[in-house]
Amino acid sequence: MAKKTIRDVDLRGKRVLMRVDFNVPMANGVVTDDKRIRAALPSIQHVLDEGAALILMSHLGRPKGVGFEAEFSLKPAAEALSKLLGRPVLMAPDCIGDDVEAMAASLKPGDVLMLENTRFHKGEEKNDFGLAQQMAVLGDVYVNDAFGSAHRAHSSTEGIAKCLPSVCGFLMEQELDYLSRATQNPARPYVAILGGAKISDKIAVVENLLSKADTVIIGGGMANTFLAAKGYAMQDSLVEPGSIETARAILATAGGRLLLPVDAVIADRFDAEANSQIVDVDKVPSGWRIMDIGPKSIDAFAAVLKQAKLVVWNGPMGVFEMPKYAEGTFAIARLLATLDATTVIGGGDSASAVKKAGVANKMSHVSTGGGASLEFLEGKDLPGVAVLQEA
Ligand code: AMP
Repeated sequence: MAKKTIRDVDLRGKRVLMRVDFNVPMANGVVTDDKRIRAALPSIQHVLDEGAALILMSHLGRPKGVGFEAEFSLKPAAEALSKLLGRPVLMAPDCIGDDVEAMAASLKPGDVLMLENTRFHKGEEKNDFGLAQQMAVLGDVYVNDAFGSAHRAHSSTEGIAKCLPSVCGFLMEQELDYLSRATQNPARPYVAILGGAKISDKIAVVENLLSKADTVIIGGGMANTFLAAKGYAMQDSLVEPGSIETARAILATAGGRLLLPVDAVIADRFDAEANSQIVDVDKVPSGWRIMDIGPKSIDAFAAVLKQAKLVVWNGPMGVFEMPKYAEGTFAIARLLATLDATTVIGGGDSASAVKKAGVANKMSHVSTGGGASLEFLEGKDLPGVAVLQEA
């Protein structure tokens, strides 16, 4: 269902309360990667150009939820934003309360106020409605541009949207647009690639994708549980025994539409310097473990991907943090960069893999939300989106 965006509402003279995802990495009080802040700039700029005052809110990290903690302050994010915008960004001492209300009330069109970490309040993650109401009094319109937090029903993402006219920001709109291409009338052939370690998190996604995609490619640690379900000895490889039955059931119905690795890079320890070799997946020796997909698997996956018109990728093909086991992931990233297809990268590790491989700018869309994009692909309603006004 299409949602209203900041384009659809009159912002002139309003105080716009915008939820952004400024959960950015920091070291010594300085933002070390401002990608998420940059991603929110189009919405921020639009609100300011329309003659509104802007109040930004976000969470950062995992504070205890009992008030201010310097380590989790959003002040460094406000400073980084101020540099990017070339105008001052006021910092509030909290995200609610009399002082903050006074600051918000005194804002003029074009002013920017950054609220403190919403998670300084325990109620935030409990979607406490009282907290949401206290946040809501600060603004006239609520904009959600924090796709990465949209799968969580929190006071600043869900509760608050029930208190004010609530619309999508441009980043949220773009995320929903690209991810919807995979869930509604996808271009075909549509190939989904899933990897990473935690199969229990992703098994529902496999089932959902099999009903939508033409082929589902599975690599990474996830593939081991499927290979175990096929009866291969995975030895010391990462396997989730509790998911083997489900994997077996999926294999029984998926037929040739589910593609698994045929060979693997294996190691005798989980270590960057371990001994390694390439073997077929039915020949993993005792004492060894699968760390990456092998060259035959890369070729087999590439053959299918080359035909694709839409590719969605979530999760690395191996332990790509260690160079010896990164080739499978990087080879897939490089291949996607050459395709004449829409390529959508789920957030988290796949996003950092395309960046490390130097091809992030060749992808159609790199999502800012790992968990949120997975839940969307799984077919779930994202609470932070469902609550926004329909167009
Ligand atoms: P996830 O959070 O489920 O997306 O998993 C990402 C992690 O999976 C990365 O840190 C990878 O190192 C890890 N991973 C990928 N392939 C394997 C594998 N074969 N064995 C163990 N871990 C893996």
